[in-house]
Amino acid sequence: MDRARIVLKPKEDLRLRAGHPWVYDNEIARVEGEPAAGGDVDIYDARLQPVGSAFWNPASKIRGRIYSRQPRPADEAFFVEAFGRALAWRRRFFDPETQSLRLVFGEADGVPGLIVDSFVGAAESAAGAAGAKGRWLSAQFLALGVETRKAEILAALAKVIPNDGVFERSDAPVRKYEGLPPATGLAAGAVPERIVIAENGLSFAADLAGGQKTGWFLDQRSNRAAAARFAKGKRVLDAFCNAGGFGLAAAAAGAESVLAVDASADAVAAVLANAGRNGLADRVKAEEANAFDFLRGLERAKERFGLIVLDPPAFAKNRAAVEGAHRGYKDLNLRALKLLEPGGILVTCSCSHWFGPERFQAMLEEAARDAGRRLRLVEERTQDLDHPIVTGYGESRYLKCTIVEAMDRG
Ligand code: SAH
Repeated sequence: MDRARIVLKPKEDLRLRAGHPWVYDNEIARVEGEPAAGGDVDIYDARLQPVGSAFWNPASKIRGRIYSRQPRPADEAFFVEAFGRALAWRRRFFDPETQSLRLVFGEADGVPGLIVDSFVGAAESAAGAAGAKGRWLSAQFLALGVETRKAEILAALAKVIPNDGVFERSDAPVRKYEGLPPATGLAAGAVPERIVIAENGLSFAADLAGGQKTGWFLDQRSNRAAAARFAKGKRVLDAFCNAGGFGLAAAAAGAESVLAVDASADAVAAVLANAGRNGLADRVKAEEANAFDFLRGLERAKERFGLIVLDPPAFAKNRAAVEGAHRGYKDLNLRALKLLEPGGILVTCSCSHWFGPERFQAMLEEAARDAGRRLRLVEERTQDLDHPIVTGYGESRYLKCTIVEAMDRG
């Protein structure tokens, strides 16, 4: 069967040839044939030279998502190869047999719209009883092309990364731009209530069905360890703590005390459970509150900390939201800087790709000026290596994690 051909307008292939995987509606000169929604198509430039193969979605502004630079169908063999390449990259840095990892990071791994996290650990029942060891996957199908190929994808995953169950967490808001409703539920095998995973020598419970996103924020793994280097003997504030990844790493590294705050009651309960699991409960407190108000309250109470972590959700989900996000980030960082003792360390994050590194740095400088603090840069970090960053696809570089020392006013 002949595949439909998408012919681009002049020059619209340049960005794609530099590595970007998306073909927008306004870049297309004509469609030859009748591509099925979710089917695969061949992309040609205006001179009729092939650019690659893409998933087709007539209901999305992103009409085509390139999955291969060669003409080829997106069948099970394609996914087996793509997952194999993704696994090979991770093996350079991690041991996928014992470590929990993001195994497939969508476009950055050449599988547009598909996120797969692999959790390795021990099952735990709702009542806390320990169960069998195993590997379970949490998957997000965020584009029509992967939605329509769920069967092939699950079969390919089973081959490349044998697992005991797959839970689908396709409840991210971006699905609506693809014309897809949210979907969650068991996609293969069985998945326990919780999975106790190891990270930086600590144990954490990942909740694939009920946790935020895929159940555990794997991208901050190395940043948690980096932050913990500054914790010994300090009072630590972990703002937007979720299940306590940063705060507990700090407590284990010898923090005098850790105060964790999150707006979600489930997250606060998870922090306390994880603290108990690691024998750190005596030094960890967790509060359910809006972090903006909470930081203001700490300021009024003249509290001081030696280490503060700010890891808010993405404030800018699109270009239009950048200005509002700037105010939000600045307000938070300003308050945190005021709460730091002289020589105190701020670990400040933004996971919004739209809020780029320059913008983030400018925001931090404004916050420092308004707080009357000079900052000394310790490190500029990003997401861990199981969330690859690739040239030509700027969206893949989304996480900023900047560590600074707030110097004395002097
Ligand atoms: N630091 C965490 C991940 C944070 S994700 C880790 O290392 O795993 C962002 C968190 O911010 C979520 O847990 C969410 O519940 C919380 N959140 C969102 N808005 C908030 C607000 N206004 N105040 C406090 N927490 C908030």
